[in-house]
Amino acid sequence: MPGYELWGDNEKKHLNDVIESGILMRYNFESLRNNHWKAKEFEQAIQKRMKVEHVQLTSSGTTALLTALNAAGIGAGDEVILPTFTFVASFEAVLSVGAIPILVDIDETLTLDPKAVEQAITPRTKVIMPVHMCGAMADLTALKEIAKKHNILLIEDACQSFGATYKGKYLGTIGDLGCFSFDFVKTVTCGEGGAVLTNNKEYYIHTDQYTDHGHDHIGNNRGAENHPNLGLNYRISELHAAVGLAQFERLDEILSIQRENKKILKNALKEIEGISFRKILDEEGDNASFFSIFLTTEELARKASLALSAKGIGNAYWFDNNWHYIKKWDHLKLVKTLAPLYKEHKELLPNYASADYSKSDAVISRTVTIPISLLWTHEEVQKKSNIIKEVLSEILNK
Ligand SMILES: *Cc1c(COP(=O)(O)O)cnc(C)c1O
Repeated sequence: MPGYELWGDNEKKHLNDVIESGILMRYNFESLRNNHWKAKEFEQAIQKRMKVEHVQLTSSGTTALLTALNAAGIGAGDEVILPTFTFVASFEAVLSVGAIPILVDIDETLTLDPKAVEQAITPRTKVIMPVHMCGAMADLTALKEIAKKHNILLIEDACQSFGATYKGKYLGTIGDLGCFSFDFVKTVTCGEGGAVLTNNKEYYIHTDQYTDHGHDHIGNNRGAENHPNLGLNYRISELHAAVGLAQFERLDEILSIQRENKKILKNALKEIEGISFRKILDEEGDNASFFSIFLTTEELARKASLALSAKGIGNAYWFDNNWHYIKKWDHLKLVKTLAPLYKEHKELLPNYASADYSKSDAVISRTVTIPISLLWTHEEVQKKSNIIKEVLSEILNK
């Protein structure tokens, strides 16, 4: 699943380039850096491979989302539609720019149900934010259509789906803006890092400036640069970018191991009656970092999750998870913040605690997800799939 499993010589080589020169900053210091520009090189590598016009690295996936929202001019009182199943960073970013997270139901794609999105649109809606959970895609065809019809933006949270594609295009490059995370447990890691992708030049200029205190990056004299707009410091360091660049060079290897392992698991479970698989709209495009199955009831899913754990098969039961599903987001439901929100902001927030997310519950409560390791040998995957098969058959035949 995560790139850190493949930590090795390539990461050390790129890091060493930076350590040798001692220039840990991505901008300026031309005469001292032995011509190493790891952040720039990583951006260009993504741009080239993913066939996108512009890439801006950031300090994290969270700051990538914040940057994308800012770059598109999303702020006070604007509504952003996102799914009930995501990582908390998605709604944190929306709240941080003063906007309103509107959480809507998911379907068996494990992300936005386009019908729920359509129903949630109001005159305040500015953005649909699909989250491509666990390596695979939201229904971008339907969502793009809805966005177009209502003249709103599509900002992809592709943080969990680096390298995945939909109908031949990379996730993160299909909406108006797309965001990736390179935190320590993502498909490719920088330690900490993120990226914003766009084909829109104006948005790119904003991302370039916003992540560096508004610097316009014109000329070679940092001190003399102008600041067309306010910004913040969401820069990535050269050390982090060096790791990301090294990992990126192994993306094909990462994807092919994951896809092969997933195929073995899925084939092994195909014939089991009483389970089904996550609906993946473009199976070939799945980055295959995870493998999700549905049981028919919550009770069976809980049983399966526990029984798999007992047999040493790592798995996630998201319905009880603190970080990824609305049920346990009490800090959001109670709007607990250290610094209080403006009254006007707070008053616009929906009552998440009393909202009806039963459609999402009905999906997530039946879902069990197995993370796919890059380190499993062929024999180990075979063995694991036999164990999974046995465990599930036993539960389902009772
Ligand atoms: C990891 C993640 C983020 C945030 O990324 P960080 O780099 O950890 O800040 C945002 N959205 C989703 C869906 C994620 O999984």
